Amino acid sequence: MKPAPFDWHAPAAIEEALALKARHGEEARFLAGGQSLVPAMNFRVAQPAVLVDLNRVAGLGGIDAGEDGSLRIGAMARNARVERDAVAARTHPLLAEALREVAHPQIRNRGTLGGNLAHADPASEMPAVMLALDARFVLRSARGTREVAAADFFLAPLTTALQPDEMLAEILLPSLATRSGTAFIEVARRRGDYAMMGVAAVLTRDADGLCTMARIACCSAGPTPMPAPRAAAALVGTRVSETDIAEAAALLRQEVAPMGSVQASPAYQRHLAEVLATRALTLAKERAR
Ligand SMILES: Cc1cc2nc3c(=O)[nH]c(=O)nc-3n(C[C@H](O)[C@H](O)[C@H](O)COP(=O)(O)OP(=O)(O)OC[C@H]3O[C@@H](n4cnc5c(N)ncnc54)[C@H](O)[C@@H]3O)c2cc1C
Repeated sequence: MKPAPFDWHAPAAIEEALALKARHGEEARFLAGGQSLVPAMNFRVAQPAVLVDLNRVAGLGGIDAGEDGSLRIGAMARNARVERDAVAARTHPLLAEALREVAHPQIRNRGTLGGNLAHADPASEMPAVMLALDARFVLRSARGTREVAAADFFLAPLTTALQPDEMLAEILLPSLATRSGTAFIEVARRRGDYAMMGVAAVLTRDADGLCTMARIACCSAGPTPMPAPRAAAALVGTRVSETDIAEAAALLRQEVAPMGSVQASPAYQRHLAEVLATRALTLAKERAR
């Protein structure tokens, strides 16, 4: 199918893009990689009257590391670029590990991290990764700039805290403490498909091997990326033994709220959540050296 008619603007400056969005509000959509928006327009599921194309806007695609190991990623950074970035691989290896599971290389070459997050598909890997990494998002509009925690950004399927005039401009990732380990594991029917279940885990241990911090979040596990705070809290203060991990994974199984699909019943998704959490936590523990 062909999309419904629309006006196309390709500004070169962010201020111009924000002014266009302020003028047209919900009638307008930002175009990033187009990997979700263009198919939706072709199916006429989305019929924006105006597209504000961000591909020519300068300065939105950077990946910058802070001296403390934090990372600042521009919303227009292509997923493939984030996946291959050497600094990101060192500071936040969870990004590349999860991005390898996002769609196919061609789609990652074009698709952007910001577009993926703004699209807010609950089956998407990166929103769950953002919860696990305790990310913050910089939202810009002609009115100003604000920061929102990833935990407050995803509100419902395909629905975020972005106001009609706002752009997701940057993704801020705090540094991981020493002796932190991270892991992402998912199960999908075919490589590149959306996951039936995915688990992102971040663990920090002290010099004696005790867990001082844990964050776990899942994709395809509910209407938004699903954090598992009870499972994570159960690990803190433990040695992250097999039994500790099994107890946390059993808690996580209760915390997720999978909705089921043609591929997997909610009961099977819960089973996957427990199995994948066990594997992800075991891997994260091994990596937390
Ligand atoms: C065959 C196929 C398989 C896929 N499999 C997966 C998968 O397994 N996992 C996965 O996570 N994704 C998957 N995707 C989706 C893919 O990752 C998309 O690239 C991504 O979801 C959207 O990113 P984009 O840059 O293409 O955004 P676009 O499609 O351009 O935009 C998506 C939405 O976000 C809005 N938007 C974009 N950028 C901004 C911004 N900076 N600020 C505010 N709003 C913005 C747009 O207006 C639009 O509503 C798949 C896509 C295809 C076609």
